[in-house]
Amino acid sequence: MILHIDMDAFFAAVEQRDNPALKNKPVIVSGNSKRSVVSTASYEARVFGIHSAMPVFQAKQKCDHLIIVPGNMKKYAATSKKIMKILSHFSPLVEQVSIDEAYVDIKGCERLFGSPEDIACEIKKSVFTQLSLTSSIGIAPIKFLSKIASDMNKPDGLTIITKSQVKEFIRNLPIQKVPGIGKTAMKQMQTLQIKTLGDVKKFPLGILIKKFGKMGHRLLELSDGIDASTVKTNYTRKSISSETTLSKDISDFEGIKQMILDRSQSVGRTLRKKDLVTKNIFIKLKFSDFSQTTRSKKLPTSICSSSAIFKEALALFKEIQLKKKVRLVGVGVTALKDKNAPTQLQLMPLKDKLNKQWESVDFAVDSISEKFGDSIIKKAALSKTSRGRQNDE
Ligand SMILES: [Mg+2]
Repeated sequence: MILHIDMDAFFAAVEQRDNPALKNKPVIVSGNSKRSVVSTASYEARVFGIHSAMPVFQAKQKCDHLIIVPGNMKKYAATSKKIMKILSHFSPLVEQVSIDEAYVDIKGCERLFGSPEDIACEIKKSVFTQLSLTSSIGIAPIKFLSKIASDMNKPDGLTIITKSQVKEFIRNLPIQKVPGIGKTAMKQMQTLQIKTLGDVKKFPLGILIKKFGKMGHRLLELSDGIDASTVKTNYTRKSISSETTLSKDISDFEGIKQMILDRSQSVGRTLRKKDLVTKNIFIKLKFSDFSQTTRSKKLPTSICSSSAIFKEALALFKEIQLKKKVRLVGVGVTALKDKNAPTQLQLMPLKDKLNKQWESVDFAVDSISEKFGDSIIKKAALSKTSRGRQNDE
C-alpha cells in the first residue's frame, strides 16, 4: 500500500498557527503587488471562492476583509523538513514531491505500526501534536490513486481505497482527476466523450496514442489499474561525495589534479548507478595543519558525466590559493535529482550535447568496470596506481 500525505492549506496554516490574530480568518499568503497571485488560501478564504493561482486583486474583490500575509519560505521549508522527518520514522521509503507533499511506501511497516489506517492515523497525530498542523492522507494499492485519495476529504481527511475497490473506483474516476491531463488533453477527452478513466478502455491503444501521444499508453495502463511508478527515495538523498586522504601530504598541482579526477569519476559512477543527476558540485581540501576549505558551484544544467564533474571540480580547485600541503581531497555533488524526472523541455545547447556524449562513454566504462572490476579501465592520467585511502559516501 502506498500512502500520500498532503498538508492542508500549508503556507496559510503555518501563518495562522504562528499568529493568533489570523486564526479562523480569511487569509492568503502572497505578494502584494499588482501582479501577485495567491500562493495559498486558508479554508476560510476558500469559502469566498478564493483559490491558489488567482490574481490577488481578484481575491480582494471576492472578500473585502481578506488578510494578505507575505510568504516566509524559510519557515515553510523548515516545517517541511520536520514533516519529512516524521514520515521517515514510519518508513524508509519516503518520496517528497513538493514542499508539503510526499509518498510513503508502507509495505512491511504493518508489523511495527499496525494496519494502513492505523499508520495514517499515527502520522496525522504525530504531525498535529508536533507541528499543530493538519494534513490529509490517501492510501491506495496504486501510487497515482493514493494522491487522488488524499485530495478527497480535505481538510484533515483520511481516505483509503482498498484493493477490491480499485476497479470500481477507476471506472467512475472523473478523467480530469487523473494526474498529467492538461487543458489540451481535456479537449480531446471531450471530443472522444471520455468522462471517466474507465471510459478510456473503450478505445484501442492505437487511437489513444494518436490522440494523446505517449500519454495514451499510460492512460490505458492506468485504466487497467496498472501504475508502474514506485516510491522513489532518491529525492531524500542529499549528497554524494568521495574523498581521498593522501598517504603523503602533497602540494604539486598535477598530483592534486589527478586526485580530483579520480574522485570525480567515483562520484560520477555512483550518480549514474543511482540514476541521479546533479546541479551542484563541491570540492573539499584538508591541509597538513588539519584546516580545511571548500568551494561549491551551482550549474545551469544537470549533469552526471564524470568528465563534466571533473571539469567543474578542477575549476573550483583553481580558485583556491595553495599555501599549505594538502592531505585530503574530496569531490561531492548535491542538489540531486532523478535522472528520469520530468524537466522543462529546452533546446539542447552544444555544451549539453557534448555532456551527453561523455555520459554515454561513462556508461560504457561503468558496465565494463562492473563486469571486470574497477582497475581494468581508468583514465590515462590515473594509470599510475592511486595513492592513499579513499572514502566514499
Ligand atoms: Mg497541500
